[in-house]
Amino acid sequence: MVGNGPLVVFGSIVQDLISYTDRFPRPGESVRGHHFLAGSGGKGANQAVAAAKLGTKVSMIGRIGNDMFGDKNLEGLKKEGICVEGIEKSNSVQTATATITVNKEGENSIVVTLGANMELDDKAAERNEEIISKAGLLLCQAEIPDSGNKRAFELAKKHGVTVFFNPAPGDPNLDKNLLKLVDIVCVNENEAEFITGHPLNSVEDAKKQALEICKFGPKSTIITLGAKGVVISENSTDPKHVEVSRVEAIDTTGAGDCFCGSLAYFLLAGKSLEESTQKAAQVAALSVTRKGTQASYWSSNEIREKYP
Ligand code: ATP
Repeated sequence: MVGNGPLVVFGSIVQDLISYTDRFPRPGESVRGHHFLAGSGGKGANQAVAAAKLGTKVSMIGRIGNDMFGDKNLEGLKKEGICVEGIEKSNSVQTATATITVNKEGENSIVVTLGANMELDDKAAERNEEIISKAGLLLCQAEIPDSGNKRAFELAKKHGVTVFFNPAPGDPNLDKNLLKLVDIVCVNENEAEFITGHPLNSVEDAKKQALEICKFGPKSTIITLGAKGVVISENSTDPKHVEVSRVEAIDTTGAGDCFCGSLAYFLLAGKSLEESTQKAAQVAALSVTRKGTQASYWSSNEIREKYP
């Protein structure tokens, strides 16, 4: 199903700026934070890092601003061994930021400014056709314009590259025609509801919705259900429930991205969709036992050390 080339991620890069405080400020008020963290994020970058940490070759196509956040994120991706040839610098807009406030209950309030990610459009996909053409698998998310994803999918089809789409974060206005160009789609419960228009409250609902989503175009649909596991329908066949061993979660931020990046890694390693799903779920479960997003992802060496 997948080719021999690298994983190519066409997606978002976001600088996370996280302030920890006792309570959220009211309008017009300033409150003191007691801790601050700056982290690299963006669904595209997270998924690229998750796959690279497991040891696959990853090439990322993305856009950053000509600013210090852009430079910092670029360096971070290079340190993970990711090829950054396809990352362009915008001269007109800044690197995307997520300004996050976390209160003492652990709730967060987030302002995302998508900045340079919104320039990752059809023209950007065309400028990077060569990188897309050499991919073993193309992985995309929905933190960039639909026009960028559509063109990237079309170019992948033109070159016989398998398309893996994670339409996250969920958007009720997602252009469902995009799914016609997709081979594998992976969604969480909310994203599945947005596509089908029905509530998803159980594994049985997920099985029905996996089949419904396949009707929009993808050969295979994967629905992640947090600690309740994953439902897959491969080639529109009877859906299966892949159970996971529930772990005590410390921080689930970025678990979905870890799952998608890991799934891409196992597919490129030649595993079946079912086995890739089982293994990716194990890697994602490890990530929720650590704080942070990219910082919570385990490398293959760490996994081998812990589970020889
Ligand atoms: P996020 O938006 O926080 O990145 P998500 O909603 O997209 O997450 P989830 O379905 O919550 O994604 O989690 C992805 C995968 O992570 C699950 O399918 C499961 O394999 C694993 N996972 C998450 N939480 C747990 C847990 N408590 N125990 C075991 N596995 C977990």
